Amino acid sequence: MSNDHHHDHDHDHDHDHSHLSEMDARVRALESLLAEKGYIDPAALNEIVEIYETRIGPQNGASVIAKAWVDEGFNTWLMEDATAAIHSLGFTSRQGEHMVAVANTEHTHHMVVCTLCSCYPWSVLGLPPTWYKSPPYRSRAVIDPRGVLADFGLVLPDDVAVEVHDSTAETRYLVVPKRPDGTQGWDEKQLARLVTRNAMIGTGLALNPADLT
Ligand code: FE
Repeated sequence: MSNDHHHDHDHDHDHDHSHLSEMDARVRALESLLAEKGYIDPAALNEIVEIYETRIGPQNGASVIAKAWVDEGFNTWLMEDATAAIHSLGFTSRQGEHMVAVANTEHTHHMVVCTLCSCYPWSVLGLPPTWYKSPPYRSRAVIDPRGVLADFGLVLPDDVAVEVHDSTAETRYLVVPKRPDGTQGWDEKQLARLVTRNAMIGTGLALNPADLT
């Protein structure tokens, strides 16, 4: 699990396959039943799925973080009322949940989990990665957060405290990673490229300028 992409890839193959075929069948059965009864419009459903697959993703959250890095007023707003600050950029939630932003500092690192199920800030991060929904992540993130971070290749100094936030249906968290050094004068668009999905879940850090090339 040292490499993040590799990690995702393995999971998609090893787990999703066997899982999803049963889940797929159930979802399909439910969908056709609901459509047949006139409760849902399959075309509308396809559009929602398409939106979450293409238009709503971590790039939304990355632009929120980049703005917070360059705009102090926005950063203050984000820390005080993340729901409203995020909403102001046009990212709204279908589920209407409350957003809370937690900012990493030199003393504290934040990471997010949903121990109960898979609550995730869809409006800013899109679809959750497979590992986020996996029972090992959900249980170990609380018991052994440093071990989990190490599996993601992130080893923090001992004097950095790790705070784990448990998402619920009502409250979802967005980690504001530290702005990388060597980015003075960068605009929001450039900065957003440094903000990975994992940096906003807390299982990673923002990239360094050198990582882009
Ligand atoms: Fe959940």
